[in-house]
Amino acid sequence: MTSTEAVSTIFVPYGQGRGRGLDEAELGAHGVEVDRLVALGLPVVPGVTVPVSHAASLVRPDLASAALDLLQQVAGRRFGDPEHPLLIRLLASTPSGSAGIPVDLPGLGIISGSVPALDDLVGSGGAIYEVFAAVIRFVGEHAAGIPGDDFAEAEYIASAPAERVAKFLALCTDAGFPFPDHPAEQLARAAEATLRRWASPRAGRLRRRQGLPEDLGFAFHVQAIRVGPPQTCGYGVAESRDPATGTFAPTGTFRRSVRRMIAEDRPGEPLDHLPGGRDLLVSTLRTLELHMRGAAQVEFEIRDAELALLAARRVERPAPRTAIRLALDLAEAGIIDDVTAVGSIRTSDIEALLHPQLQLTGGETEFASGLPASAGAAVGRIALSSERAVEWSEGGDPVVLVAEETSPGDLPGMLAAKAIVTVRGGLAAHAAVVARGLGRPAICGATAVRIHKAGRTVASEGQSLSEGELISVDGSSGTIYAGAVHVIPPQPGGDLEALLRHADRVRRLKVRANADNGRDAALAIRHGAEGVGLCRTEHQFLGDRLPLVRRYLLATDADEEAAALVELAAAQKEDFLDLLTAVGNRPVTVRLLDAPLHEFLGEQAHEVNPMLGLRGVRLALMRTELYPAQARALFSAWVDLAATGVTPQLEVMVPLVALAGELASAAQHIRRAAAEVEASTGVAVPYTVGTMVETPRAALIADQLAGIAQFLSFGTNDLTQLTYGFSRDDVEAQLLTAYTEQKLLPVSPFASLDPDGVGELIRTAITRARRVHPAIKLGICGEHGGDPASIELCERLGLDYVSCSPSRVPGARLAAAHAALAVAAT
Ligand code: PEP
Ligand code: MG
Repeated sequence: MTSTEAVSTIFVPYGQGRGRGLDEAELGAHGVEVDRLVALGLPVVPGVTVPVSHAASLVRPDLASAALDLLQQVAGRRFGDPEHPLLIRLLASTPSGSAGIPVDLPGLGIISGSVPALDDLVGSGGAIYEVFAAVIRFVGEHAAGIPGDDFAEAEYIASAPAERVAKFLALCTDAGFPFPDHPAEQLARAAEATLRRWASPRAGRLRRRQGLPEDLGFAFHVQAIRVGPPQTCGYGVAESRDPATGTFAPTGTFRRSVRRMIAEDRPGEPLDHLPGGRDLLVSTLRTLELHMRGAAQVEFEIRDAELALLAARRVERPAPRTAIRLALDLAEAGIIDDVTAVGSIRTSDIEALLHPQLQLTGGETEFASGLPASAGAAVGRIALSSERAVEWSEGGDPVVLVAEETSPGDLPGMLAAKAIVTVRGGLAAHAAVVARGLGRPAICGATAVRIHKAGRTVASEGQSLSEGELISVDGSSGTIYAGAVHVIPPQPGGDLEALLRHADRVRRLKVRANADNGRDAALAIRHGAEGVGLCRTEHQFLGDRLPLVRRYLLATDADEEAAALVELAAAQKEDFLDLLTAVGNRPVTVRLLDAPLHEFLGEQAHEVNPMLGLRGVRLALMRTELYPAQARALFSAWVDLAATGVTPQLEVMVPLVALAGELASAAQHIRRAAAEVEASTGVAVPYTVGTMVETPRAALIADQLAGIAQFLSFGTNDLTQLTYGFSRDDVEAQLLTAYTEQKLLPVSPFASLDPDGVGELIRTAITRARRVHPAIKLGICGEHGGDPASIELCERLGLDYVSCSPSRVPGARLAAAHAALAVAAT
């Protein structure tokens, strides 16, 4: 092929690729990108692409020379003009853009005699020598095969850039490869170096590791870079959005002088200092955002006070605040619709905005890790007992409660602590459930941690920390760091709520919260909960109130039991009033007592297997005054509140049912209480009765239960425990971690609902229940109610609502919208 043919048929000036019917397979990713920029009318550094199938031809000096002729034409300038000098930049791009070894040589075309004058013009004290040295080394190593160590040695001896150039040139001459002093020859040699390096075994291995084809090709791009005095020339990078606020406010840096091959550590200048002003940059980023439908990032050069783009890309993973503001802006501008805006935000973005985060720098000392049981982050002094946590926190010190596991008696310590770490327990164990309810970051099942109570130390894998020392807890990743890591506070802001309002219009599933008291319910409602899906009444007896429930559970005769119950019910009425007041006219599901005895009685629980023992409805059928007393407290609280005009929609729920008869008896107890309250107050309290589906048998007899219940709520913590036979308190940290590592399980079934087993039981239950009672209300209140993948399964199963801890409500609103979109798309 002649050079004239090459110019007219092979080389593609920037912006002409698509017009010639070429795509990324020929133009490479960069060629397509610049085509788009030119089509958008944006200023682009002039360049020529040598397509993939002809890339090898650039090693011919005559064709390299023809490429430069064409480049001079499109650039409107000539090489070798000392007044208006040009440099050549050579880059390569593969069709996918993910080249095995990218090449970016910004300093071709420097003639050795012109270096001092050029360096003076640029005025940066050696920058031209540096880029020239980098080119000589690259070409010398890869085209002439001079060992890299020789260059490294020469570089070590010659620290001044000018001296380095002289040494590198001498190395080439000594190796029988005098470095060419002509731009076209340099370009041809640089192309050869790139091709040889691409063909090396090392590059092949790298491609294999990246899953790229062995024979992957690339296009060359040859750009004309103008260099000049620092007052009018330089280069920089910019992003369209301010990372702190997410708003459209271009930020970036600008450096005078010439681009080097490696990132520079000298500080840049703000964009306000751009020669020629920043208006064109701002309008360019605006155009790019609208075109890319995303945050834009550009590399640019300033040439004679004019902006020209070197590269532009969409920011693939913008910071959460940016992603949300951008989605709202694009929707407001009519570029995307609300549904696309909602679909573009991940639930993890929301979590990051709602919870504090650790600002990790990479220099932290990891102490231990465990299950990420409750999102957020905190720093505090290690407290090895609930009492110590309370004492130090009252003294003004932030504390992290570190315990083997927690029980209801630890509530004061958990409330006092900024974060909770337990050695044992899983995602559905007491510590995790309570921490999520309280909105405290927590890590459970940190099995490598050893607590030495006597020595007041905690150890993990060779490190030891004393009680009182600071640790940092990342409940979102499950990592504990020694010492204090900076914590970034949560900043939800109005944008998040605006986005969630879009999500609310998209979703079908209702979102409720698991809240045990007025404070949690109020928080949940502020987060957008549409009601309370689970009030665990036994949680009203944690901490100081524990003796009340203990006295009742340990009563040995009817009189003792009755006396304890009177106190218990009185305390509960206050709590109910508080809860119902916060709920307002919304629905609220109050679950009657389900107190696993080991949690409430500790050593005094005489059961070998308390999770399968006298819990839930079983206790209520042995102690037949329990549920009526609770129900009376609830109904009386409702009557008091109704007098003020507020009428919550009461749903009374019976836990751990396995027999239809259990539910029928408990429903009778509840009805009895309602009749008694009506007799004493004259008010017929409206309420419905339903049951949790927590045992596999309950799921299988859901038709029988639906004959009695007006609603069913799937308690998937227990349902998972009982379906697998996995103890929710014991197996997660060790067994399930090993199982997921061995790929026996994709994820813990306590974190994400198992679609095949537990999900199938739920599906069966729904079908059977609806056959008997088509309008029966169906929800989920296990911890899965806040997990995005589980929420999608709930949407597919056709549940009416999900219920999760208050802090997970915003994420659940978005996840429910995503679920509706996913189902609509299938
Ligand atoms: C459940 O089992 O899913 C549930 C919500 O109840 P708890 O966690 O209180 O046992
Ligand atoms: Mg349960």
